[in-house]
Amino acid sequence: MSSPEILYMVVPCYNEEEVLPETSKRLKEKYQSLIERKLISPLSRVVFVNDGSKDKTWSMIQELHSSDPEFFSGINLAHNAGHQNAVLAGLMTVKDICDMAITMDADLQDDINTIDAMVEKYYEGNQVVYGVRSARDTDTFFKRFTAEGFYKFMKVMGADVVYNHADFRLMSKVVLKELANFKEVNLFLRGMVPLIGYQSCSVYYERAERFAGESKYPLKKMLAFAVNGITSFSVKPLKLITSVGIIMSILSLVAIIWSVVAKIGGFSELGWSSTMCSIWLIGGLQLLALGIIGEYVGKIYAEVKQRPRFIIADFINDPDNK
Ligand code: UDP
Ligand code: MG
Repeated sequence: MSSPEILYMVVPCYNEEEVLPETSKRLKEKYQSLIERKLISPLSRVVFVNDGSKDKTWSMIQELHSSDPEFFSGINLAHNAGHQNAVLAGLMTVKDICDMAITMDADLQDDINTIDAMVEKYYEGNQVVYGVRSARDTDTFFKRFTAEGFYKFMKVMGADVVYNHADFRLMSKVVLKELANFKEVNLFLRGMVPLIGYQSCSVYYERAERFAGESKYPLKKMLAFAVNGITSFSVKPLKLITSVGIIMSILSLVAIIWSVVAKIGGFSELGWSSTMCSIWLIGGLQLLALGIIGEYVGKIYAEVKQRPRFIIADFINDPDNK
């Protein structure tokens, strides 16, 4: 192997003061062993992206940086931009100073020991290495059920994502450069990266429980994320509306013929129930259809404005400080 390459870890943090000391400690140990094994260059860094936290997260990152400037870097976003935007902010900041970057959650749910395998797979020629959960034993039944349902539903809806892979992945500089060309505002990284292509593979790990603190993804946010993922990657819901419309038209044709026959035959009733039912059904379906179309229109609205996806207030880093 030629000389070891530079690895940057991008770790988004939103109110993570409880986990940061442990996460930084474990990452440091991991890096030291990787550097000793000559798998990564000593110029490798860990970049914590503070996503507008309300607690002490940013001052902790600043402390980490001043105590160990050759190892810990930090990006401070001007406001809470959301997990996906925070990850992208980190990746876009490091894309020109690293050879490969790994994105990982701050809460230690992603197994740090998988990093070795990811880096090895990178040297084998993979430009993207997906971290895939082999088991979900530590998740609550509810989380597991909703999360697995999410992946299946995504597939049915036409958005191709790697099953049970979240945002724990390695990407090479080449892929990061391509990712920079995706200008969309509605970010859904796990759908975008497979679109880039290049040689990729998966490594498997057991997802641990959150080390401390609470999930920043309550059900409401998770549902919004799922809807975003589907509508960002597939127009299948729009096609579904057409199919339902066709089926309804055929059914109504049958109903019309039936009513005419009933009228002529003289056995027609007043038909209150059937009228009521159809009004509610048609009204409901129309609103649903409008809602789905509205979802896409809203996306177009957000896209045409082309607002910045994140705003970086500070970047503390000493890439060449050996
Ligand atoms: N996160 C973020 N911005 C947000 C919400 C979350 O940067 O607005 C970060 C959070 O600090 C963590 C990662 O995204 O590092 C994943 O969040 P979390 O662990 O709460 O989600 P879960 O694992 O429960 O789905
Ligand atoms: Mg988590």
